Amino acid sequence: MERIRCRELASSSSFCSTIYSEIEEVGWEHLVRLGEDLTFLSFRILDKKGRTHTLEIVVDETYPRSPPSISADVPCMFDLEWSIKSRLKDVVHQFQQHLGKLEEFWSTLDSIDQSLLVVDPEQAHHATTHRLINIGNDCFLMLLIDALDPRSLPECRFIGSDPKVNALRQVWRRNCKRWMKNKTLPENLAITLETQLPGPPNIQKNDQQIECGICYAQCLPIDDELGAKSGSGTDYTCDNSNCSRAFHSLCLGDWLRSITTTRQSFNVLFGNCPYCSEPVAVKINSKN
Ligand SMILES: [Zn+2]
Ligand SMILES: [Zn+2]
Repeated sequence: MERIRCRELASSSSFCSTIYSEIEEVGWEHLVRLGEDLTFLSFRILDKKGRTHTLEIVVDETYPRSPPSISADVPCMFDLEWSIKSRLKDVVHQFQQHLGKLEEFWSTLDSIDQSLLVVDPEQAHHATTHRLINIGNDCFLMLLIDALDPRSLPECRFIGSDPKVNALRQVWRRNCKRWMKNKTLPENLAITLETQLPGPPNIQKNDQQIECGICYAQCLPIDDELGAKSGSGTDYTCDNSNCSRAFHSLCLGDWLRSITTTRQSFNVLFGNCPYCSEPVAVKINSKN
């Protein structure tokens, strides 16, 4: 539809025909919106991890003598390099290169969202650089991530009662030299704060609710003979992401031992998942 409308307009002025042919170069499949007089365009651009970004471009009648103005849902924008010979595809190309530089920033935020208890924001945008996390003991930590150097020590603000926050700041000051760029942010936080931080709520819930694929119970019976495993929840998940079936390693071990093709090496049983038949390896002998 946009394409037909734009093609009709293309004959009306050289400006319109320029915009038409330059959208063509970028690819119509990327076009999300097109203003009535063609001075506003937005393109949908995917980054290497498949995240969707929208690049908004505003041009005026003097285009391409004057550069377009651009905006996007990113934590920081880049300086557009522009000459009279530049085209919209160059804007898109520079934007894609900029997205590549921010890859590390988004994967750092993903690691926070996946393994820590984030309180705010509830719905993060690609441009959001902060995370407020619950670190337990009625304390919170506000993290501000540097978009262009996300693995460095982030700016931190502790929130909670004075004595608790002061104690946290002391630990933090003592340990912040131990922050390593080759570790993930949640790993670094656990080291720097000398504590295991609470995880996201849905993971905690799932751990309690998932039932074993063999005995169909969530928890093993309370039984002295089971030692430390008495009454415990599922502790093994099939690695095949299409299956992801949960088991008690005890149940899976017993089941594998009853199958003649199962092989044992030291205290590990090698066999196949009873649901998807993909290889599984379960440690046994850990009843106590
Ligand atoms: Zn079981
Ligand atoms: Zn499986």
